[in-house]
Amino acid sequence: MKKEKPVGLYVHVPFCVKKCAYCDFLSAPASDAIKERYVNLLCEEIEKKAERYPGYRGRTVFFGGGTPTVLKAEQLERILYKLKECFSIPEKEDLPAPQGPEITLECNPGTADGADLKKLREAGFNRLSIGLQSMRNEELKKLGRIHTREDFLETFYLAGEAGFRNINVDLMSALPGQRMKSYVNSLERVTALHPEHISAYSLIIEEGTLFYERYGEADARRRAEGAKIVEMEQAGCIAVAQFRGFAYGALIYGGDDLTGEEWSNRGWRSRRGVRCDLVILCKELVKII
Ligand code: SF4
Repeated sequence: MKKEKPVGLYVHVPFCVKKCAYCDFLSAPASDAIKERYVNLLCEEIEKKAERYPGYRGRTVFFGGGTPTVLKAEQLERILYKLKECFSIPEKEDLPAPQGPEITLECNPGTADGADLKKLREAGFNRLSIGLQSMRNEELKKLGRIHTREDFLETFYLAGEAGFRNINVDLMSALPGQRMKSYVNSLERVTALHPEHISAYSLIIEEGTLFYERYGEADARRRAEGAKIVEMEQAGCIAVAQFRGFAYGALIYGGDDLTGEEWSNRGWRSRRGVRCDLVILCKELVKII
């Protein structure tokens, strides 16, 4: 049967090297055996979803987490192959052809080497979203990130060498103790690299995280003085627009909630931000990690 209706697919990989201090996402470290089991069950889940939703063609694919690149390149390739098979995603489609599918992989610095990135690019991933958060090592350490600014730079350049021509970089603002100057400095250093896209999120300190214990009360006070945070983010936008010519936009994922800001370079825009229709994860295994 010919599949006609376009659909945005989100695949959740709930594994990370270690938990960041501010993180309340569905993610945790896991053994190789659990990861392999998850991949197998996920492939089965994709088949079931395709049977439940016949007549759909994958328009965008987003592998998020967690940190999808803690899986082996071969495992990610297997999942993507299954999606292509079940949702009629064409082989070897390259951006910027507007009709081609955008296939995004989230990656944290240091979790994929040059050989992995080449394999992943060849498998069909055509957009890499790198979780940087800050260009300052002291802020990364405070956040409990596994990487440094130098690790990020290495991953960014390796991605280019591997053939990724559409790269997003995630940044975070409103970190505890972060000064406006520091945030703007991170933005300027990232825009100087000319990624195709930057997603910038304002940190929200959630209950149940290490950050909540450390900064929960102070954060509530700070939120009450929200104007300063807005001022910080706007200053960042102005700096970027002024110095590098990026276009500014609002990031909205799910409902009408504004979750952050984005800057697009040379007319690039993530299609994932527009719509994501079908979430694929393996609930049985998510419960035990
Ligand atoms: S890398 Fe992302 S998902 Fe993983 S622990 Fe850190 S914030 Fe959470």
